[in-house]
Amino acid sequence: MTDQIDLFAAPDAASLPDDFDIEAIPTSSAIAIPTGVYDNLETLTRHCNSCQRCGLAGGRTNVVVSRGNPQAHIMIVGEGPGQQEDEQGLPFVGKSGQLLEKILAAVRFDTEKDVYICNVVKCRPPGNRTPTADESSACKGYLMEQIRLVDPKIILMTGATAMKGLTGEKRGITKVRGQWVEWAGRWCMPIFHPAYLLRNQSREKGSPKWLMWQDIQAVRAKLDELLAVE
Ligand code: SF4
Repeated sequence: MTDQIDLFAAPDAASLPDDFDIEAIPTSSAIAIPTGVYDNLETLTRHCNSCQRCGLAGGRTNVVVSRGNPQAHIMIVGEGPGQQEDEQGLPFVGKSGQLLEKILAAVRFDTEKDVYICNVVKCRPPGNRTPTADESSACKGYLMEQIRLVDPKIILMTGATAMKGLTGEKRGITKVRGQWVEWAGRWCMPIFHPAYLLRNQSREKGSPKWLMWQDIQAVRAKLDELLAVE
């Protein structure tokens, strides 16, 4: 276990000049999103809703910031909004979202109560393509602030892009899924993206669905263990 992940490359808000204009953050990716700059998720959401930091702003219907409980112990990070997410302004609401809800419910996690769900990029990439490194980088500061403000005990990264966008890990998801990585007191685990499970319906031992079942049970056990020692 315990590879350390350096998630924060941004300056700290405490070291910012007095004339730093927080309202400039949504206007350009040249302006860093300092750690600690947001006091609350409401301001962060307002900034995301008007954000022009990358080219994805031009094609969106809605900015997709989050759903679920901002006090949840578990944060789920996906890649970016798809068509239905873009239309509704909420992450994981299509078929993938329905499957995710079923997976969570199987270990008694309620999507609205027990998890907070967000994405690496908050605007839909055209044609559901993978976000570019520049797009992920422009948006990453918002995600880092969401993690700091929600302060989850466990972060689940769904799929290779979420894992890479968050941690820089470049190994394939099949190699690293189900492995715990500890970062700043948080337990992080890459898991399969539900869309991948929809394309691989087998439930046989060793299949993606079977592996996901092992992983989500490990997540349930880890949270129970962490809450038991509080
Ligand atoms: S994807 Fe992120 S950085 Fe790009 S415009 Fe949307 S909110 Fe801003």
